[in-house]
Amino acid sequence: RNSLIPRVIFVSLFITLFTSTPGKTEPLACPLPPELADRVHVDPAAIESASTDYGNTVHNKPAAVLYPSSVQDISSLIEASFTCSTPFGISARGNGHSTHGQDMANNGVVVDMKGLREQKKRDRIFISKRPLFADVGGEQLWIDVLNATVKEGLAPVSWTDFLELSVGGTLSNAGISGQTFRFGPQISNVYELDVVTGKGELVTCSANNNSELFYGVLGGLGQFGIITRARIALGLAFKRVLWAQILYSNFSAFTIDQEHFIASHGRRPGNDISYLEGGLVLDNGTPNTWRTFFFPPADLPKISSLVKQHGIIYSLEIARSYEDLTEKTVEKEMKQFIKGLSSVPEYIYQKNVSFEEFLTRVQIQVQKNESHPWLNLFIPKSVISDFDSGVFRDIVLKRNITTGPVLFYPMFRNKWDDRMSAAIPDEDIFYTAGLLYTSGINDWQVYEDQNKAILEFCDKAGINVKQYLPNHATKNEWIKHFGSKWTDFEQRKALFDPKMILSPGQRIFNNN
Ligand code: FAD
Repeated sequence: RNSLIPRVIFVSLFITLFTSTPGKTEPLACPLPPELADRVHVDPAAIESASTDYGNTVHNKPAAVLYPSSVQDISSLIEASFTCSTPFGISARGNGHSTHGQDMANNGVVVDMKGLREQKKRDRIFISKRPLFADVGGEQLWIDVLNATVKEGLAPVSWTDFLELSVGGTLSNAGISGQTFRFGPQISNVYELDVVTGKGELVTCSANNNSELFYGVLGGLGQFGIITRARIALGLAFKRVLWAQILYSNFSAFTIDQEHFIASHGRRPGNDISYLEGGLVLDNGTPNTWRTFFFPPADLPKISSLVKQHGIIYSLEIARSYEDLTEKTVEKEMKQFIKGLSSVPEYIYQKNVSFEEFLTRVQIQVQKNESHPWLNLFIPKSVISDFDSGVFRDIVLKRNITTGPVLFYPMFRNKWDDRMSAAIPDEDIFYTAGLLYTSGINDWQVYEDQNKAILEFCDKAGINVKQYLPNHATKNEWIKHFGSKWTDFEQRKALFDPKMILSPGQRIFNNN
């Protein structure tokens, strides 16, 4: 009975604290479950960290932050909101790498999944060899999944470029990288999920079991539940990777060759590539950015003059993972294959690295005084040349403010399951364009203006782009974004989160 005393104090303290600091955060209308007392933080440091993300342009303060120590903590919190007469918003914060406040909960509660990560429980990453899969906690970072699986000679087949992202966070979007053309996005490589819904219920779902929830959650922007476990596909971890960067001054040659690689993959000798990306080389110091171009220093002057001559050049990036071939054999095969390309590239560079070195190639130090107002788009293949001239040349090149990498690479629609929530263009091949700006804290608005100009141009030119990691301000924009998937999306919301508690930072159903 004695242990009840601090809990009662916690609840009263909680209510008093928030009613006594008007203007900063609104009080929650209902008390939180007393058993969460020592995991709920309301101190300025916790509030500050949950109201900042990688984008660093949106800052919405939650009333409190929960650092869960178990899945039950998450259920209890959601249930408390669900049963409250005035439900409060709840957002999972995977690792805070959103760029427009999508992981925030204004005046609600942020569930910082770091709490679960810090439990270091062994069963939060479990590897099964027969059948082959990994069961990983939604809070886990992909880097930790890599480290655990390679020890067993295994690895997930589909990745993101950067691995300090959480499993739940990328599965709520899609999870794309150079493997997507071959294996599909990360959401296409999930067998089963455990999800705490907007009613606080823990539900196991898969393609055959609670499939509405399963497909809804994949690419569902956190709207239907908090992912607490994902069963993901594994393949072999290779030993080495032959990695090549091939430069083009001509956009159409660059994209023809990208499509040539992905279409003939596995069907032409030497083309067993496991990874294909691409991007722009601009006259903005790009070789020094985190995209890790590996042009030799001696070649930089001639590359630089090529960029000056053409304004933009394009870098096609491929990699081939291998196990028991010699370096020479793989290099010979790659040479043969590149020789057979339909276009003539200006320069070709190659590098041989370990499998882990390749997957961890993107390393980022986040600086406090930086903002990242990114724009990521999916573009139907039929209009990429209009996109190049209207966006890359008429906006990006002319404004000349773009810092950071600009990615551009293709993928196949049939590697995505249409039942999943993720919104993609309606063509067999589409490209992703990622404008991954790094700006100063005071000048991010000029990048948002550029984003706006790009979206307006696409709209006027009839280029039907979809935003990836979307950021929309109005319900109509969301309806347009999801297109034919909107009705299902809305119905799934009514089924799994009828009180519209989850992921308010996405501003889909609750504009705050
Ligand atoms: P958060 O930003 O914390 O959350 C994102 C959304 O998911 C929020 O709405 C949140 O509420 C929800 N969410 C988080 N956890 C869960 C959960 N367990 N269950 C349900 N909902 C949840 N993306 C790619 O696809 N490919 C890349 O190569 C890639 N590289 C990136 C590199 C950098 C440097 C950065 C900053 C981002 C990159 N991203 C990439 C984008 C990344 O996928 C998104 O930011 C994604 O949101 C993952 O980040 P996070 O785990 O920090 O999630």
